[in-house]
Parts: sequence; structure tokens; C-alpha cells
Amino acid sequence: MSEQGKRLDGRIVLVTGASRGIGAAVAKRFAQEGARLVLTARTTGALEEIDDEIQKITGEPATLVPLDLTDYHAIDRLGAAIFERFGKLDVLIGNAGQLGILSPLAHIDPKVWEAVMAVNVTANWRLIRSMDPLLRTSDAGRGIFVTSTVAREARAYWGAYAVSKAALEMTALIYAAEVEKTAVRVNLINPGATRTAMRAQAFPGEDPETLKTPESITGLFVELAEAACSRNGECLQPD
Ligand code: NDP
Repeated sequence: MSEQGKRLDGRIVLVTGASRGIGAAVAKRFAQEGARLVLTARTTGALEEIDDEIQKITGEPATLVPLDLTDYHAIDRLGAAIFERFGKLDVLIGNAGQLGILSPLAHIDPKVWEAVMAVNVTANWRLIRSMDPLLRTSDAGRGIFVTSTVAREARAYWGAYAVSKAALEMTALIYAAEVEKTAVRVNLINPGATRTAMRAQAFPGEDPETLKTPESITGLFVELAEAACSRNGECLQPD
């Protein structure tokens, strides 16, 4: 790709859940588009493997920050570290998520419910809380959060996950309303069925080859991350 054709040249981008699946594919695509990446997940080895691939693409290492998103103080420290290093954040991609266990509402283990809410909802609110000043410092701050069809469809047994995504959507939409008069834009992406570990966990009998790849949906993330994007408070699906 020519330098001129890079759509995110020099943009500072934080991707959560970058160790595999959709987050890893977005990280690699954004590297191709010239972004400077800060990547988080719990699994250090997997982040390092993604970084090796990124370095092959760009020659530049990403900044790897292994952390558990339920360690909310670590999110605050990450905000401080990004400020010290870059002085701003151009794009926040709240992608990390957990499915929990599909089961009737009355049978969900409270620990599973709390873990799903902690990662899918509270961590994204804590990210907004920590990164908001950095996004407002950017000339075109962008927030992109990853939701699911079940946020708006009452599907039996999807309780904790569906409730968490409904709450995430409202969190993102309220943030979008609050930044309306600034240069920050905030949107949601509903990726639809995508070939990842989470999808295999939810549908163990399914042939993954019948599903679209995470790489095939990264274009929408690029579009919503670009400084030229004027959408705000929308929920979009890849083509
Ligand atoms: P994966 O399970 O493949 O990836 C999930 C990512 O989240 C991993 O990088 C994982 O990293 C990270 N993560 C999970 N828990 C934590 C935690 N406590 N702290 C830090 N990072 C964490 O899932 P997908 O790529 O499929 O999912 C990405 C997003 O897309 C999710 O929000 C999901 O809900 C959504 N989605 C996916 C669909 C699909 O069909 N695949 C459909 C609709 C929505 P690690 O384990 O290393 O911490």
C-alpha cells in the first residue's frame, strides 16, 4: 500500500481484545493503514505473536499492554501512560468481550454473570472514563464499541451476554450524545457471525468455514476510525 493510500496514517489507536479474533484482525489492518497501535489483552504470548506480524507489515513495533480489563486501576494507569507517551488518543476500539455460559437466566452462576458484566460493560465505561480527555485532545477522536445482534433480540439462554451488550450499546450511545458538539465521534459495530473462538464457543457444532473471517470485516472499523468519519451514535454492520 502506498504511503498516500494509508487511511489511518500516524493515528494513535488503542485496541482491546487484540490477542485473537476480531481485535487481532483489526490491529493488523490498522497497522497496514499506518496507525500507531496500543494493544491490550490478558495473553502476553498471543499479543507478541500479533506484534511480530505487525512488525513484518510495518517495520514498527506496537505498544503491548497485557492487562485484565477487570483491573480497573490498570485501565486508569493505561490512560496516564498513553497521555505521557502520545499526549492524546485518536481511536479507542472497545472490542474485548466474554460470552460467559449460555444457560437459562435462573441457572446462571453469579460469578459468570459478574465476569461478563465486568468485561463487556464496566470495563468499557472505565475505558471511556479514562480515555475521554485523551480523545477530546485529538483533532478527531473516535470511539468504536463492538456489540451483538442479541443486544436487541431476546434470545433464550443468551442472558448475561445479551444483557451486557444492551448495556454496552446504551453506554456508547449516551457517550455519543455527550460528545455531539465536540470533534469526538462514537459508534457501534455489530460484526454478525464471525469465525472466532467466541463464535465456536457459542456454536460448537458449526463448521467455521461457513463463517466470514475477522479479516473480512475490518473495513468498517477503518471507516469509523477515520478523521473524515462524521457518523455519531450509530450501530453499523459490515457488508
Ligand atoms: P474472541 O474470544 O476471539 O476474543 C476476545 C478477546 O477479548 C480476546 O482478545 C481476549 O483476550 C479479550 N478478553 C476477554 N476477556 C478479557 C479480559 N478480562 N481482559 C482483557 N481482555 C479480555 O472473540 P471475538 O473476536 O469473536 O469477539 C470480539 C468482540 O466481538 C466481542 O466483543 C464479541 O462480543 C463481539 N462479537 C463477536 C461475534 C462473533 O461472531 N465472533 C458476533 C457478535 C459480536 P485474552 O483472552 O488474551 O485476554
